[in-house]
Amino acid sequence: MKCKATVIALGAREIKEQEYDSEKWLGGRGLATRILMDHCDPACDPLGVDNVVVMAASPLTGTIAPTAGRGHAVFKSPLTGAIGSCNSGGKWGKVMKSAGLDAMVIKGAADSPVYITVTDKGGALTGRVTIHDATDLWGKNVHETTAILQERHGKSASVLTIGQAGENLVRFASLMNDKNRAYGRGGPGAVFGSKNLKAIVVSGARKTEVAEPARLKKSVEQSLHTMRAVPTTKRVLRALGTAGLVHLINMMGILPRRNFQDCSHDESLLDRISGETIAEKILEKPGACFNCPIVCQRHTRVGEKTGEGPEYETVVLMGPLMDIYDLEAITLGNYAANELGMDTMSLGGALACAAELLDDEEIKPSDFKGFPVRFGDAEIYPRIVQMIAERDGIGDLIAEGAREMARRIGRPKSAMTVKGLEIPAYDPRGMPAQALGYMTSPTGACHLRGGYSVGLGFFGGIKEVPRFLIRQAALTAINQQNVGIIQDSLGVCRFTGYALGIEHWARIYSAVTGKETGAKDLERAADRIATLEKIFNIRAGFSRADDDLPPRFKTEPIIIEKKARLISENERNRMLDDYYTERGWDREGAPLNKAMEEIDMY
Ligand code: SF4
Repeated sequence: MKCKATVIALGAREIKEQEYDSEKWLGGRGLATRILMDHCDPACDPLGVDNVVVMAASPLTGTIAPTAGRGHAVFKSPLTGAIGSCNSGGKWGKVMKSAGLDAMVIKGAADSPVYITVTDKGGALTGRVTIHDATDLWGKNVHETTAILQERHGKSASVLTIGQAGENLVRFASLMNDKNRAYGRGGPGAVFGSKNLKAIVVSGARKTEVAEPARLKKSVEQSLHTMRAVPTTKRVLRALGTAGLVHLINMMGILPRRNFQDCSHDESLLDRISGETIAEKILEKPGACFNCPIVCQRHTRVGEKTGEGPEYETVVLMGPLMDIYDLEAITLGNYAANELGMDTMSLGGALACAAELLDDEEIKPSDFKGFPVRFGDAEIYPRIVQMIAERDGIGDLIAEGAREMARRIGRPKSAMTVKGLEIPAYDPRGMPAQALGYMTSPTGACHLRGGYSVGLGFFGGIKEVPRFLIRQAALTAINQQNVGIIQDSLGVCRFTGYALGIEHWARIYSAVTGKETGAKDLERAADRIATLEKIFNIRAGFSRADDDLPPRFKTEPIIIEKKARLISENERNRMLDDYYTERGWDREGAPLNKAMEEIDMY
């Protein structure tokens, strides 16, 4: 199958097209990673001109397949130095495809602020891409920029933009589309900022080609039927949003508090920030990304302010991780992060690291220049978010992320990160497969790229999955990682996974492409994509030593079901050995030729 990548060189102001055979890489994450390998030296400076951002849609994008509107972005991460790989809902991915784009490569850097438009009007694609001056947009937040660009280019245009955080190279700055949907993790917004690229605006109405429409319709109907039969995809996420997880994750004993110092909470405090309380107190209405029947978005209001969220990760990482249980404060902090364009997960992790450093007197209150970040102080929101985006006072240090902040202070062990990416809101000590997922995720500690093993722990039934078994961790983590790779590469949402298996997607993919594809073919593609991401990281200088957890998780136990739980160094090594062997990689994690031949890598 052929697809076209539009290569935009910002410095030279050149636009070219390049043809790719996408079959082996599916689309989205797989295709974008394949293209990244052609255009980006993994050893480059992530904030230098040689870094590249690749954004890709999939063959399914824009079809009637449920949730098939997501886009994927890959780049070298300025937060970790490893591959950055993230995914966003909303409708930007769908509209990008409707503008006639399969994939877009952004290279080089402009001399002054610019934005790009792509429309479906006109002949050759290269003639439909325009680079515009963006001097008047620089300094504006995400919502302001989106409003101005939609005024200029039409209300149906979809806007992907950075806020002040991206402009000021905050290392966890996000790309925001449709105002509040984020390509969040790993700092893609800082890469845009380093290129003087403020925004990309896409518009168009081209239809995605479907080889067998009647077969697609039937496969989609079957899938929707299954989604309507499963409580999570039928009503739980619609009613409670992702924050419906607060009590479930606490029940598993892995909802983190005070920079992962423990996981114990007063239930009545958790009640104040749960999905149920969000629904009762601040929810205006639920919302959905393109063609999504699940409808998990939260459109909320606090006083005069409206916005989206908070999601589960934001609630916990800007909440209990900071020992804060104040829903309105967290929500206002979340709104600010969306408007200024930053990842709320790394934001929460970096703030908790700063609070621990202050608590342990590694940083003096005076170092905070009048704005100490303390555990339990809900008053820091939303001002601290603005300070980070503007690199004002202590915000300048926090903007570097937890790992770099802790390193500069001389206490690296206070950073709860893997490869420099702040850990999501599930304590790894309570599920070895999730711990292994964080360790081996190509992007650092990400529950989505690392595999959402913890999801098996609640919707799989806590007693039915081998939650604490070290010896099955590798198989579980690889399975969950590969499912995620397939979903990201087909451009569909992770939450479909509560109802739909890979077989559903194989049927839908076959109908769209006209090429008979089974679940095994999709899994083989996932193995290939995981291996390619690993190769990028090896070339970027990463090794087995980087597939590791912070010392806290190896030496300071938490209590679950009356037993002390941690991941010992021996257990870490055992899981890594199993994982590398299963993947066909050597003891250091380098892919072996035999395995690469088996998956038809090149
Ligand atoms: S489940 Fe939620 S995040 Fe996923 S596509 Fe639907 S609305 Fe978007």
